[in-house]
Amino acid sequence: MADPARRAAYLGALGIDQWVPRRPLTPVAVAAVAAVAAVAPASASSPVTEDPWSALQACVRDCRRCGLHEGRTQAVFGAGSRAAEWMVVGEAPGEEEDRQGEPFVGASGQLLTAMLAAIGLQRDSVFIANVLKCRPPGNRDPKPAEVAECLPHLEQQVAMVQPRLILAFGRVAAQNLLGTEATLGSLRGVVHRFGPLNTPVVVTYHPAYLLRSPGEKRKAWEDLKFARQVFADLPSRD
Ligand code: SF4
Repeated sequence: MADPARRAAYLGALGIDQWVPRRPLTPVAVAAVAAVAAVAPASASSPVTEDPWSALQACVRDCRRCGLHEGRTQAVFGAGSRAAEWMVVGEAPGEEEDRQGEPFVGASGQLLTAMLAAIGLQRDSVFIANVLKCRPPGNRDPKPAEVAECLPHLEQQVAMVQPRLILAFGRVAAQNLLGTEATLGSLRGVVHRFGPLNTPVVVTYHPAYLLRSPGEKRKAWEDLKFARQVFADLPSRD
């Protein structure tokens, strides 16, 4: 992904050729941008004049902060609208995501798309990311040290996108986003908060789990309806 043509194609595939914030950057977003500049590796493909979103992408693409870079095909930055009002956060790339460079592909990705559609959301209207950007071997759970190294990337994505609500899919995503070891069952049906912006977080089951346990889809539907109501009750930003 080092050569500019391939990189441009990749950015184009994600629909993120140019970063245009939908509102002025908050102090938190400005701080995130500064943090990106501080950690982004200096290279010909990530000049200091690059826009903050592209700089963050380059930072993730080239990241070697934890050992997971050794086994990845590529880091999976995330995909979707940078003007998204909803952000979806999952655990980590699986085998197919690692290969394609996209989050939530395959059967679980199709179910995610259907779950979003059930509450009136087009997949490309949300931003989809994972707690970890690189695939853990054998799809094992992330290690705390890996999360500690990678979570700042997600924090910076949240600071730049400024979603109004985060949907956390699955136990691992929820526990690591919220810094808790509580069970997923106990985290459902409650509005949590993430990051300096106190972004509301609603927790539900991971689509991959629902494919293995279709009897739990009813509970997931309850969670989605809860999230939709939480979003509807948010105070207007205008
Ligand atoms: S998982 Fe995150 S911290 Fe680890 S190498 Fe990948 S991008 Fe870097």
